[in-house]
Amino acid sequence: MNDSNNRDNLLRQIRDEVVALSESPLYSYRTENKYFPVIGEGSHQAKIMFIGEAPGRNEAKTGRTFCGSAGKILDTLLGEVGLKREEVYVTNIVKDRPQNNRDPLPEEIKIYGPFLERQIAIIQPQVIATLGRYSIVYIMEKLGLADKLKPISELHGQEFVAETEYGKVYIVPLYHPAAAIYNQGLIETLKQDFKILEKFK
Ligand code: URA
Repeated sequence: MNDSNNRDNLLRQIRDEVVALSESPLYSYRTENKYFPVIGEGSHQAKIMFIGEAPGRNEAKTGRTFCGSAGKILDTLLGEVGLKREEVYVTNIVKDRPQNNRDPLPEEIKIYGPFLERQIAIIQPQVIATLGRYSIVYIMEKLGLADKLKPISELHGQEFVAETEYGKVYIVPLYHPAAAIYNQGLIETLKQDFKILEKFK
């Protein structure tokens, strides 16, 4: 089996496990509302992986990442640096929608986090671009950078290097695109910060 088929199979396996994750505290909310879990989408060979927080309503209704208003902003930001969704991989830490878009709880991050770690190990991105504070905290803690953690307002737009079992990975903390819905000024900051990604294309 070639590497590409192997990645597809391993990611499919993750999808199947998340679909059947009845022990998740968000499972009954998913099934009662006929929602879908949102696993991740994009190239399985992506150099850049984006990690958001958790699916919103549109995402849970369709099973697709960032397909609502935050997704429109993400597409604009990608377009600014000449990237397309199909060439990156976009996922979240928490794979099911938290009730009424509340922030994810520690126990939810704990149950879904290992699936994210497996996705990283399978795709082996050169760059992990985190969207918002939940994903940067998780990634920096997991990749041995906990001592460098600061509020997102101080971390955004910088570049960190971490060692993984597959080699070096660059970590780029970014604001969550949804933050620009409420604070228009942030869109310029996001555009500026996204420029870091240009050299990894
Ligand atoms: N916000 C996220 O963090 N992820 C999505 O998929 C959509 C909105």
